[in-house]
Amino acid sequence: MSQKTGSKKVCTFQAETKELLNLMINSLYTHREIFLRELISNASDAIDKIHFQSLTDHELLGDDVELKIEIEVDKQNKTLIISDNGIGMTYDEVIENIGTIAKSGTKAFAGRLKESDKIDLIGKFGVGFYSSFMVAKNVEIITRSAKAEKGVKWVSEGDGSYTIEEFDTNTRGTKITLFLRDDATDSSNPEEDFSNQYTIQNLIKKYSNYISYPIHMDFYREETPRDKDGKTIEGAEPETIIDNKVLNSITPIWKKDKKEITNDEYFQFYKHHFHDWNEFADVIHLNLEGKIEFTALLFIPSKASSDLYDRDFSKGIHLYSNNVFIMNDCKDILPEHLRFVRGLLDSPDFSLNISREILQHDAQLKVIGKTLEKKIIEALKKLLKENREKYEEIWPEFGKALKGGIYMEYKNKEKLEDLLLFYSSGNDKMTTLNEYIERMPEGQKEIYYAAAKDINTIKRMPQLEIFKEKNIDVLYFVDKIDEFLTQNLDKYKDIKLQSVTREDFNLDGVLKKNENIEPNEKAEDDKNIEYKDLLDAIKKQLDGKVSDVKMSKRLKSSPVCFVNSNSGASFNMEQLLKGVNQFAPKATKILEINPKHSIFPIIEKVYKNRNANNELKNISEILYNQALLIEGFELENPVDFSNSLCELITKAYN
Ligand code: ADP
Ligand code: MG
Repeated sequence: MSQKTGSKKVCTFQAETKELLNLMINSLYTHREIFLRELISNASDAIDKIHFQSLTDHELLGDDVELKIEIEVDKQNKTLIISDNGIGMTYDEVIENIGTIAKSGTKAFAGRLKESDKIDLIGKFGVGFYSSFMVAKNVEIITRSAKAEKGVKWVSEGDGSYTIEEFDTNTRGTKITLFLRDDATDSSNPEEDFSNQYTIQNLIKKYSNYISYPIHMDFYREETPRDKDGKTIEGAEPETIIDNKVLNSITPIWKKDKKEITNDEYFQFYKHHFHDWNEFADVIHLNLEGKIEFTALLFIPSKASSDLYDRDFSKGIHLYSNNVFIMNDCKDILPEHLRFVRGLLDSPDFSLNISREILQHDAQLKVIGKTLEKKIIEALKKLLKENREKYEEIWPEFGKALKGGIYMEYKNKEKLEDLLLFYSSGNDKMTTLNEYIERMPEGQKEIYYAAAKDINTIKRMPQLEIFKEKNIDVLYFVDKIDEFLTQNLDKYKDIKLQSVTREDFNLDGVLKKNENIEPNEKAEDDKNIEYKDLLDAIKKQLDGKVSDVKMSKRLKSSPVCFVNSNSGASFNMEQLLKGVNQFAPKATKILEINPKHSIFPIIEKVYKNRNANNELKNISEILYNQALLIEGFELENPVDFSNSLCELITKAYN
């Protein structure tokens, strides 16, 4: 495996490593910039280690106490150097750590590559130290362990072998020099030019901004010398000025003590990270330790992103591992109905080598997701309770997403039902279901709702007449999804949700309490029996267009209305479904007639006049068409309707 040339040893890489390196060197990548993140996170890990050990071993740091990472870019020589004064490596550690695939993530990755033709995967994974060969034709490591006298020099072209030798150096830590490939120094393509200081600066901001140690870089600029008064000296040679800058922000806001963060600091961070200039409605800052360790910083926005309700809405939670950025917009953490929440999650348990595919099956991530969901729902409930005004402001933005959760899965009902708000006939304010039931008069046994395309349409619905008269609150279901919610939201606290346009409803309890009740008010059932023949005759005239004709107990001033049978589609559902599916189910129509309306005695008279069969047909048709018009349906035969009306008017005034 290895041969000695003086003190320099030439070694070959492990077979798996070789294969991986081969792919890296010989392929084109879309994400090769991640090599920098990998090298910096290794440097940060190495500093973590010495920092930790120095807490008990006070001599360990010696004079070199200021822990930091340094980056040098040399455009002329096409080199990029990343150095740290961390723990360093001994000779044996270099052989052990660099040159074998030790890490399980990397190993798993190498395994996957065989199955997949997609070279592109490399970029999405990030595979530690080896990723430096994506941009470098030659990599040199000089390192000295904090515990060793001598340093080590390791060099490889990533071609299957490396050399290793002892190397004299006083400097503790690791210095990695990348001799950049030509295609990684192409100044016509700054994003792929890794010998450009500003490219490197941007990459640090993107991936390594919150590394806990300062990342320094010298910036060079030419300046003509100036005299005492600040004027440039004519003819003087320009001088090179060096500015040493720290490129990263170091402590991420989410790792700071909650008590020390002002709302404005949160807002500044929120604006920059999520590009939303509207102040958020709430912030959730969580720090969990224990079996699963993580920090989460979540924001409930005050405005929905314009594409929130698009099918392919893609925003999600950003992932970090120990302050190192891993992934944007991870969608697998929060459930769909909370997709409006923006934020990030940082866990030391996430590997940098994690991929979207792996995340989908990650059990630990699911546990974290559940915790976050619970916390977000708690925060929303708290907002509703303590800052109603704010909650009502954001409700129109995100209400539909929350409703979607109830619609999609029954198990979400209990979690989300207390977050719902509806307008109702009771007053002009929005109400929760709980407030609704608390306002219910004694004896009311159902929660009533009316569904239509808007509030004005609902206000005109004749089916609401009895509820208005008896002062019974009715919820307005005006979002398209609202009535469909009742498939899962069939009850709230064991009280049934009942549509005012369904055949059955039960106000008996309320009516009994009402002292102004007319003696014959409850007698519609009896009337249905008394007028059975008449009702049957009308039904017969309508020839299958309605499933039944009944005396109405809900109409007070209108002559007729339709109601739907207790199950199946309602008119509102039928109309909504028609818009998206031409095979939409039809709602059953039951025609209700108001026995107290002045037209009723006329119907009765016509019915009793056995010779007027044709007139009964006309009247039945007109009543039916009126009910259609009231519901906003198209008339089946407008010409016939118009002719029958004219005929009646002519008769009446002749
Ligand atoms: P990982 O970081 O996932 O272990 P890498 O390929 O990035 O995998 O690094 C392999 C190993 O090499 C590290 O675990 C570490 O032991 C060692 N190493 C890499 N870079 C450094 C460094 N700058 N200082 C000390 N050790 C390092
Ligand atoms: Mg690493």
